[in-house]
Amino acid sequence: RKDNNNVFVDDLKEQGKRVIPNPVYTFKEAFANYPEIMENIVRVGFQKPTPIQSQAWPIVLSGLDLIGIAQTGTGKTLSYLLPGFIHMDQQPVRRDQRGGPGMLVLTPTRELALQIEAECNKYSYKGYKSICVYGGGDRRAQIKTVTSGVDIVIATPGRLNDLQMHELINLRSITYLVLDEADRMLDMGFEPQIMKIILDIRRDRQTVMTSATWPTGVRRLAKSYLKDPMMVYVGTLDL
Ligand code: ADP
Ligand code: MG
Repeated sequence: RKDNNNVFVDDLKEQGKRVIPNPVYTFKEAFANYPEIMENIVRVGFQKPTPIQSQAWPIVLSGLDLIGIAQTGTGKTLSYLLPGFIHMDQQPVRRDQRGGPGMLVLTPTRELALQIEAECNKYSYKGYKSICVYGGGDRRAQIKTVTSGVDIVIATPGRLNDLQMHELINLRSITYLVLDEADRMLDMGFEPQIMKIILDIRRDRQTVMTSATWPTGVRRLAKSYLKDPMMVYVGTLDL
C-alpha cells in the first residue's frame, strides 16, 4: 500500500515524534493478507469499518498498545478481536505446542463475555478455540476446558482470579491482553482482581483497552498497564 503521507511521516520521525498509523477505509486495507478474515466479513455483509475500527486496526496490527474510547454499539469488539487472531497467528511457538491460551479478554459481565465469545466463533480463524469463564457458570466445566487447551479466554475478573488463585489456569502464555469495557469493570469494583490477574501476565504482551468513557479511574488503569499506548477517541466531549 502506497503511503500517501510519506513526507509527513519522515518529518515526524526526524523530530523524534511518534508516527500515528493512517486509518483504513475498507476491510481490505486492513486484512487483505488474511483471506479467512475477509471471507467472514463478506459473509456477514458489513459494508465498511466503523470509525473506531478504521483507526484502531492499523494501530493494533502494527503491534502497538491501544486505548479505544467510543460509545456502546460502535464495533469495539471486532476492533480488538480481528487483530488479536492475527497476533496469535504470528506468535512463533503457539499453535502446535498448545502451550496455553494466547489471548485474554477481560470483560465486566457474563452477558458481555458470552457476546464476545459468539463474535469469536463467528469470525473464527485457524480453528482457534475460545472459552468463557464467568461467575455463576459451571466452575468444574470451565476448569476442564481451560486445562484441555484453549487459545482464547474470555473472562470476568472475579472468576478468573478465583481460578488463578487455585492455580487452575496458567496465564503466562498470554501475549495479547484486552481490558474490555474498562469503565464498567471499575464501576463493578474489579480493580483488585484485574491487578492480580495482570501480575501473572508477561510484560512484553500487547494490550488493548476499550471503554465508553474516559474518567480518572480508566486513565489510571491505562497508565499502569499499557505501554506507550496510542489513543483513539470517537464521539462527543461532554463538558
Ligand atoms: P461495542 O463493543 O462498541 O459496544 P460491538 O462490538 O458489540 O459494540 O458491536 C455492536 C454491533 O455492531 C455488533 O452487532 C457487531 O456485529 C456490529 N458491527 C461491528 N462492526 C461492524 C461494521 N463494520 N459494520 C456494521 N456492523 C458492525
Ligand atoms: Mg463492547
